[in-house]
Amino acid sequence: MRCLTFHLCLLLTVAKATDHDDFRAPDKCISPGGCAPVAQAVESGLKIRLVQLLSGRDHSNITTARSSSQRSLFQQAKGMANFQYLVGDGATNEVVVFDGCWDPIGIQRFAEEKGLKLVGYVATHFHYDHIGSLAGAGSPPAAKTIPGMAYFVDELNLPAYIHEVEVDRAIAWTGTKNTSRVHTLKDGSALQLGALRLKFLHTPGHSPGGMSVILHNGADQMIITGDTLFPGSCGRVDLPDSDKKDMHRSLQTVLARQANHIVVWPGHAYSGESSTIAREKESGFLQNISIERWMQMMR
Ligand SMILES: [Zn+2]
Repeated sequence: MRCLTFHLCLLLTVAKATDHDDFRAPDKCISPGGCAPVAQAVESGLKIRLVQLLSGRDHSNITTARSSSQRSLFQQAKGMANFQYLVGDGATNEVVVFDGCWDPIGIQRFAEEKGLKLVGYVATHFHYDHIGSLAGAGSPPAAKTIPGMAYFVDELNLPAYIHEVEVDRAIAWTGTKNTSRVHTLKDGSALQLGALRLKFLHTPGHSPGGMSVILHNGADQMIITGDTLFPGSCGRVDLPDSDKKDMHRSLQTVLARQANHIVVWPGHAYSGESSTIAREKESGFLQNISIERWMQMMR
């Protein structure tokens, strides 16, 4: 417990030193168990198809920028180190894109080069580094326009999915026009993609409509946790729409109850590319922490 306390204190120190309009959690490994290096885009599993993309590397790469403003955007994308995911049933080539942002055309090209067809868009939450934003919109506001959800919905005509408490602001902030293609989610919602089922868990705290998404096909299971759970840490809870108690409930009640073997895929590359529920229960933020202790730590 002493070790946990130390690492949590370190998290708080680093988080407080970060700019308010920057969603980043600590940019160093704080997991007591150590952190895996960020690998090249990986494709895992024979049955569940999951391709992990990193902003600034697999798309929004500065070497591909075509203007000075795009160069600046891609520089920001690299600094934010967002993960996007292409997820589908391994028996087909159809995938949904999670949190497609920064360089939608680059993400589209990446998918096409892998022979994958985009069929939907899923947002883990409404922050601009996950769904994009018009300049000056968002909470906190984006300094410049960032392409994201609006491209996939309006240009590619894909259906999009986001939690019901965030949908109106997500549409307004991104300037998405084809609103009939944007569908709402709530806790327990599910999507079927071939043999793959996406089951949505409402895990608020970092944002009010934060979602964690279980991927399962009857044999394998994984979870995409957005900015709720990172290896050895969690998303920030000091943002305008954050709620510390909600985050405690999401971690301790929702995520800590998931099966130990489930692989965890986070929303940023702050402290490794993946983890497992077991590892986070042993040495991360799924350890048993009382609400009193949590509130003290998050002060
Ligand atoms: Zn966020």
